[in-house]
Amino acid sequence: MFQNLSERLEAVYKKLKGRGKLKESDVDEALREIRVALIEADVSLPVIKDFLAQVREKSIGQEILKSLTPGHQMVKIVNDELEGLLGDEVSPIRFSDQPPTVIMMVGLQGSGKTTTVGKLARLWKKEGKNVLLVPADVYRPAAIEQLNTLGRDLEIDVFDAGDEKDPVAICTQAVQQAKKELRYAVILDTAGRQQIDEALMDEVRRIKEKVEPHEVLFVADSMMGQQAADIAKSFQDAVGIDGVVLTKMDGDARGGAALSIKNVTGKPIKYIGTGEKLDALEPFHPDRIVSRILG
Ligand code: GDP
Repeated sequence: MFQNLSERLEAVYKKLKGRGKLKESDVDEALREIRVALIEADVSLPVIKDFLAQVREKSIGQEILKSLTPGHQMVKIVNDELEGLLGDEVSPIRFSDQPPTVIMMVGLQGSGKTTTVGKLARLWKKEGKNVLLVPADVYRPAAIEQLNTLGRDLEIDVFDAGDEKDPVAICTQAVQQAKKELRYAVILDTAGRQQIDEALMDEVRRIKEKVEPHEVLFVADSMMGQQAADIAKSFQDAVGIDGVVLTKMDGDARGGAALSIKNVTGKPIKYIGTGEKLDALEPFHPDRIVSRILG
């Protein structure tokens, strides 16, 4: 049966009642339990290794607080370290002082990019912001149709590229139009592929260079766990990202992707997707993910 981390550590420390300090051998036993919990949460191995080293350093020799059992004390240290890694604040989108704010969405096909465009646009429309959506996946007519349908349902304008087939030109023209129309924000829905490839990265990089977006948001499927972190790293290295949207958090993802992506890219997770419906988007609260990982 699955035990959460607090229960695991309680079991390890039951025998320690009455001791004053966390001893090296006791800490190592606890670290083994923490390692299992992090693996179950699908955190990537290099991240786990660094993390355990930090926790070890912080734990050994530490006085056990009177109010806590040794097990609880370890949980508190782990909790504080996880929050330290993930940051302890919500990271909002940075809107430009000079509209339109240009947001560029990047990520693999199926990660939830187009759905997230719809969710963000819906949110901002509700706040009275005037948004333009831009379908830039010229390779998949279905993707363009999907965004047009979203726009119709939400009553939000979608850029019409006409016969233009070059994604860089489409994005440039759309941003120019948004400037003319005094839009508050433009969201560029760039192409995804099933895998990372050079052509995709090159295209995304060229769009970024040309339109100079205020925010590049990487959209990741949390169900991919640690693999999502490798993909994030590729986008970070090839294009540069400013923040992350982690989708499908309503599935059985245990939160490992959040920790691995933050650790690997250093960029904040800004929103999480919690369902297929367009209102299923929440700002990312690091403390909630920490409790999800700790169980
Ligand atoms: P794209 O190829 O990256 O544009 O991905 P889509 O936006 O088309 O999404 C792929 C699938 O994931 C669709 O079936 C979406 O309904 C679904 N999806 C997107 N975000 C979420 C989410 O937060 N939770 C769940 N359960 N499904 C999602």
